[in-house]
Amino acid sequence: MQLNYIANTNVPSASGRTLPVLDPSDGQPFDELQRSNVADIDAAVRAARECFEGPWSRLSAAERGRLLYALSRKVAEHADELTALEQRDCGKPTKQARADALALVRYFEFYAGACDKLHGETIPYQEGYSVFTWREPHGVTGHIIPWNYPMQIFGRSVGGALAAGNCCVVKPAEDACLSLIRVAQLAAEAGFPPGAINIVTGYGHEVGDALARHPGIDHISFTGSPKVGTLIQQVAAERHCPVTLELGGKSPQIIFADADLGAALPVVINAIVQNAGQTCSAGSRVLIEREIYELMLERLAKAFEALRVGPAAMDLDVGPLIRQSQQQRVWDFLSDAHAADIPVVAQGQVVDEAPETGFYQAPTLLRDVPVKHRLAQEEVFGPVLAAMSFQGEDEAVELANATQFGLVAGVWTQDGGRQFRMAKRVRSGQVFINNYGAGGGVELPFGGVKSSGYGREKGFEALYGFTTLKTVAVRHG
Ligand code: NAD
Repeated sequence: MQLNYIANTNVPSASGRTLPVLDPSDGQPFDELQRSNVADIDAAVRAARECFEGPWSRLSAAERGRLLYALSRKVAEHADELTALEQRDCGKPTKQARADALALVRYFEFYAGACDKLHGETIPYQEGYSVFTWREPHGVTGHIIPWNYPMQIFGRSVGGALAAGNCCVVKPAEDACLSLIRVAQLAAEAGFPPGAINIVTGYGHEVGDALARHPGIDHISFTGSPKVGTLIQQVAAERHCPVTLELGGKSPQIIFADADLGAALPVVINAIVQNAGQTCSAGSRVLIEREIYELMLERLAKAFEALRVGPAAMDLDVGPLIRQSQQQRVWDFLSDAHAADIPVVAQGQVVDEAPETGFYQAPTLLRDVPVKHRLAQEEVFGPVLAAMSFQGEDEAVELANATQFGLVAGVWTQDGGRQFRMAKRVRSGQVFINNYGAGGGVELPFGGVKSSGYGREKGFEALYGFTTLKTVAVRHG
């Protein structure tokens, strides 16, 4: 039985109610979580506030950095344990779960080093004045986390908030809590004072909503769907609470005829099958220049057919989807595509060892997807790649920008001038030229434009979002 983690203590929810935890590889329950409510959020916010006004505010930036570094070491020591937890809880193949645990180590290392490098400026002003700015923490920050990359998103969001001097209340997704409860326990072992990191589990519409509405939360970092992002924004607006929104994407991978196709192929495939396509920055549209369209589709099809899908522990190319409703969502997209006569070019294989009760979906490549079809417009959040053709830079830009999203884009071309022109013209938070990193390394600021959200997490830039700026003007004559 998993408990909430408040003030460095494992505690049951006030309601005494629980939720089952399912293993996506076989669909069977194997653990239970607390189904928390507003009373638990209250307790967590109180603990965070006491810590923020007490021991946390007495630490220097360098001391905060040492704590974060100690936590990075703890996570590294427990990487195998966290990998196993994440694999069971989220159905991630071993290599993906391990990559997430190691990314968490990197986030804490990065933000450990950043703590004492965040400073304000001096500003030239009128004669007789000295003016400067301080970067101050918001206070108690709320973090609402999705299920697709719990450890990575915790690392970038909570790591940045702590580095900037905040204390955190975290609401993980109901499908992905186990690793985060364990990380909070490791933080206590690393020396974090009670209340610095608090974890409260439960349903979004209950405990997530309670967190977003709580008057003791000074900033909300939300990562999740555009629909819930809108709700969070509305709730936060009621009390003018600042929000960072990291939402979805329909990211294009644009391949020009002069590209190094051999280099592009494995990267384009990984960008859509990584984490079974359940990645906000998945490269879910491949835009291919007309003269190489058939050739590239042939190569993609061959690679798709070789992909193997199975239980997380088998560590194949693709694991299960997170839950049955996600599987149903992908099926709905594919049946709409079928009804619209959109051709399926190739599919991977679900292995015989995969239990029928698991949530599997073979990677699927579709071609000639019309730009207005929902497969070209909406986030599937599964291993489904929509191929479309274009001719020349203008049409590539038009197609790339033809969705409500703008999170990440990949451009493949050997023409140096075109690389820069495309980077400028594509509307997204990140552009990768001749590579594609789903969000890139921990150092790279990440976030979207349009319905992909606003604000940036990751990198040093995140620290500005987790602080507020105070200007101090001293008149000294
Ligand atoms: P979701 O929006 O359903 O849930 C995200 C979180 O919000 C969960 O913790 C959930 O419990 C909580 N929540 C749900 N309803 C709520 C409410 N009414 N009030 C407060 N909290 C509520 O998203 P999901 O299905 O967990 O995750 C998938 C989505 O997340 C995709 O759209 C994906 O693109 C997006 N995502 C974005 C990024 C990014 O950085 N841009 C990263 C990962 C995932």
